[in-house]
Amino acid sequence: MTVREGVAVSPQVRDHLGPSLEQVLASLWPGDCQTCNQPMPGRRPALSIDEISDFAMATLHHDNCRPSDWNTDRPIPIGTAAMVTNHTWCALVPVVTGDDGQEQIKPYVLINPTLELIYLTRSPLGQWRVEPHFALEGTGFAPPPFTSTTPAAGATATLQATELTISLAGGALGPFAVTLSDRARELVEADRGATVVITHAIDPHELTDPVQLGPVLRGDRTVMAYVRIDRAGLQ
Ligand SMILES: [Zn+2]
Repeated sequence: MTVREGVAVSPQVRDHLGPSLEQVLASLWPGDCQTCNQPMPGRRPALSIDEISDFAMATLHHDNCRPSDWNTDRPIPIGTAAMVTNHTWCALVPVVTGDDGQEQIKPYVLINPTLELIYLTRSPLGQWRVEPHFALEGTGFAPPPFTSTTPAAGATATLQATELTISLAGGALGPFAVTLSDRARELVEADRGATVVITHAIDPHELTDPVQLGPVLRGDRTVMAYVRIDRAGLQ
């Protein structure tokens, strides 16, 4: 579950985010504290924001490690890749292909890259929105509409036994590993790649119903790309 229940939010953070607070809280999960890197569960989480101009980073901390605040003075601590938690899952999704309306099952690798951290941008009208594309510039990931005809320029996949590893150019995020079922592995091998979905709208480990994927695949806090298997990685 996201942190909507029981998270500490200071009046200052509440005022700055306004109606965007709900989307921010619906995009964060209590993984590890971004101050001490210890697990969040069992202790109260607190939401803090570091802002630079029209850009901000929202993070979760133990309430007594970093009480909820809106920081505009201290530098944003970029480079916390080792502290964040990612969750991955390979979903088998029926997709209509071609003009004949036939459905085919395709492998979709779902990645929430940072359960406890999201980036925000401020719209010209002053509203803060979750920005899923930050740190993915140059990788070929983009919001839908999605086409599988052009493999992502800045991403590669390696398949070893049942583990598929997705690596992104730049190294700001990942690599991400996902364990495939036998059926998923067959499909990934047949397609020599997979659709990779980077999202802050769901925790892939909490997926229980294909209906939950609808908003994600329509682009809710999500970017996607088709990633080819690096042939050297095929076994
Ligand atoms: Zn802590």
